[in-house]
Amino acid sequence: MEGLFYFFIFALGTIVGSFFNVVLLRKNTGESIVKNSSRCFSCGKKLGPLEMIPVFSFLWQKGRCRHCGSKISLQYPAVELLTGLLAFMVYFKTGVSFWWLFYFSALGALLLTALYDLRTKIIDRHLLYIFGLFASVEFLLRKNFFSDLISSFFITLFFYLIWRFSGGRWMGRGDADLAFFLALFLGWPQNLFMIFLAFWLGGILGAYLLIFKSLRWGLKSEIPFGPVLALAVFLVWRFSDFSAAFSLL
Ligand SMILES: [Zn+2]
Repeated sequence: MEGLFYFFIFALGTIVGSFFNVVLLRKNTGESIVKNSSRCFSCGKKLGPLEMIPVFSFLWQKGRCRHCGSKISLQYPAVELLTGLLAFMVYFKTGVSFWWLFYFSALGALLLTALYDLRTKIIDRHLLYIFGLFASVEFLLRKNFFSDLISSFFITLFFYLIWRFSGGRWMGRGDADLAFFLALFLGWPQNLFMIFLAFWLGGILGAYLLIFKSLRWGLKSEIPFGPVLALAVFLVWRFSDFSAAFSLL
């Protein structure tokens, strides 16, 4: 019975993930996110209900359109799987409660912001502000106003200065905005751990890109710092007990 419940949480996450795919593809393209039904990009055939089942439809169609046989991007099952995994991981921290909904929504918005950044190298304002709303609620509930605000301010300033003095090469302007809400979400001193972890992860990723990918992409390959920051936030949040949910218990 419990196994069935785990599956339900995961499945719920993958459904949200398939919505994320639509947002990632249609945002800022002028296409409606809610209106048009999903179609094959190659032949334009409308997808039937069986073809819209997250992850599984990709697996049993072996990654191809059933109508024209053209390849379906791996992004679809990857984003669905990742969002399903997030739903699952949040459940392990919060259990069945209102807080599951709260943190899955908050971290889901962050995941979407990071994925959009990975795709386009832009921190989208709308997506960031949705996460910012949850971060602000978390900040207000934690009631650690002074140290949370001061630390978030200095972290933002730090990112802003890196952006300013690297001419945007090491860090984007959007990363500073993102860093503010991330720092506010975690609060002091977790937001300091976030910075250390992000630079550590960024260093590993940078070394990996330099060693293994330099032949293909050249030395110019940049580290997508938004997604690295988002991963650091998730890890710090997951493995610390200092969130609003726990201060209210
Ligand atoms: Zn097709």
